[in-house]
Amino acid sequence: MAQYNQVTPEIIEQLKLAAPDHVFTGADINEDYMRDEMPIYGKKMPDVLIQPLTTEEISAVMKICNENLIPVTPRGAGTGLVGASVAMLGGVMIDTQKMNQILEYDLDNMIVRVQPGVLLNDLAEDCTRQGLLYPPDPGEKFACLGGNVSTNAGGMRAVKYGATRDYVRAMKVVLPTGEVVDFGAQVSKTSTGYSLLNLMIGSEGTLGIITELTLKIIPAPKVVVSLVVPFLDLETAIATVPKIKNAQLDPQALEFMEREIVLSSERFIGKSTFPKEMDGQEVGAYLLITFDGKTEDEVMAKVEECCELVLSAGAIDVLVADSPTKIRDAWAARSGFLEAIEAETKLLDECDVVVPITKIAEFLNFANAYGKECGLEIKSFGHAGDGNLHIYQCSNDLEEEEFKKRVDKYFNVLYKQATAIGGLVSGEHGIGRGKIKYLRECIGETSVNLMYGIKKVFDPNLILNPGKVCYPLE
Ligand SMILES: Cc1cc2nc3c(=O)[nH]c(=O)nc-3n(C[C@H](O)[C@H](O)[C@H](O)COP(=O)(O)OP(=O)(O)OC[C@H]3O[C@@H](n4cnc5c(N)ncnc54)[C@H](O)[C@@H]3O)c2cc1C
Repeated sequence: MAQYNQVTPEIIEQLKLAAPDHVFTGADINEDYMRDEMPIYGKKMPDVLIQPLTTEEISAVMKICNENLIPVTPRGAGTGLVGASVAMLGGVMIDTQKMNQILEYDLDNMIVRVQPGVLLNDLAEDCTRQGLLYPPDPGEKFACLGGNVSTNAGGMRAVKYGATRDYVRAMKVVLPTGEVVDFGAQVSKTSTGYSLLNLMIGSEGTLGIITELTLKIIPAPKVVVSLVVPFLDLETAIATVPKIKNAQLDPQALEFMEREIVLSSERFIGKSTFPKEMDGQEVGAYLLITFDGKTEDEVMAKVEECCELVLSAGAIDVLVADSPTKIRDAWAARSGFLEAIEAETKLLDECDVVVPITKIAEFLNFANAYGKECGLEIKSFGHAGDGNLHIYQCSNDLEEEEFKKRVDKYFNVLYKQATAIGGLVSGEHGIGRGKIKYLRECIGETSVNLMYGIKKVFDPNLILNPGKVCYPLE
């Protein structure tokens, strides 16, 4: 591990000159900053919290930290699920949430320029008001766009529109040395050397701090219809997914969920929308499918074809949600999954794997059976359309140490199995602190060393977000 220094009172004075009125220490820092949404990966307060308003302030702060070898952790809204925005060595945290302006739309080029602290929800609503769509749609709407880009967030609409990466045209970045650079441009294609823009996307705050983003937007679809499709069991539901994709129905979203998690979520939100029993049969799993398009005829033709397809593939029925209220109700339970699990569970960890869509059922059966063997309660849901599964390990009885031991045993086997069938250890949440070990096992020594080499080029003193992705502290 590189050598770092403590933040001294003299350094704090320098930081206060670099970002006047935006530097906080001690009891002035809210305790939320010690963790993200998965505290099992560690909690630690930063020594200094900085809430800058400009690129220049961040640049000046980085110069001071680089010269004094102070670790720096960039932070958005702290909604991450892998411990990536936790300052594990203390030091300085740069919270970008106050840089929250939507700067400019350029509708001829269909792009929008934003600061990194703009909330996904705010951009989404602003676009909707203008008949536009920013397609990335991760479940947490109150994450920052800087955080979304830094984790290459995926979400519900990735199956049709792609992940965050597909919507980033350009960005302004402060390097760990304090230098300010622009990556990418307002163009729709490029073959201009290595893509430093793409290296930044998904780099989880380890290469530079994003201070401005240029994002692609598209015209909003005029018609949206969702289908709730109940099945007797998960296997039949999942086996239907490749059929829907191969029929070129091009769903906007294609999610799967097991009965238990729907029950939890509906208890949590206090509203029941999904059918639990049909024709005397207990529903075991569901697909939630959305279609969008320009005209009602186009969308309804897809809906009809999809209904026929799923019924012949074994669905018990199809419930069509074709008004904004019905669609909102259908998606409300899905949106509440993580919070519902959190509310009912003392200890929690998550496996965010991505596997080929033809292997989803096989992998989930394996995950459920091995979870039982490890004495862990398993709850799963995920983006069936792109093979991205969220498998939660839950316990209300175990002590934390014992829980961590069992989860480690479980993950060792599960991630190996995911890799063996052609998958990867994270579909959208990233590596952060929690998944470092499994990244190495999944992509191999040479690839991790290449990542570490890239990290050292951007960050020669290894001050930016130490202990994350390819640079472990332990
Ligand atoms: C209920 C819930 C549902 C979720 N659903 C999804 C989902 O469907 N899909 C999905 O992909 N994720 C999901 N997430 C995870 C999380 O919301 C995303 O990872 C999100 O992108 C994190 O954004 P944030 O602003 O909270 O970033 P943080 O958690 O603060 O930080 C995440 C990473 O980004 C870095 N970072 C933040 N801002 C900057 C910046 N300006 N410059 C450089 N680095 C920066 C941090 O250092 C850290 O490494 C969910 C989380 C919750 C709690």
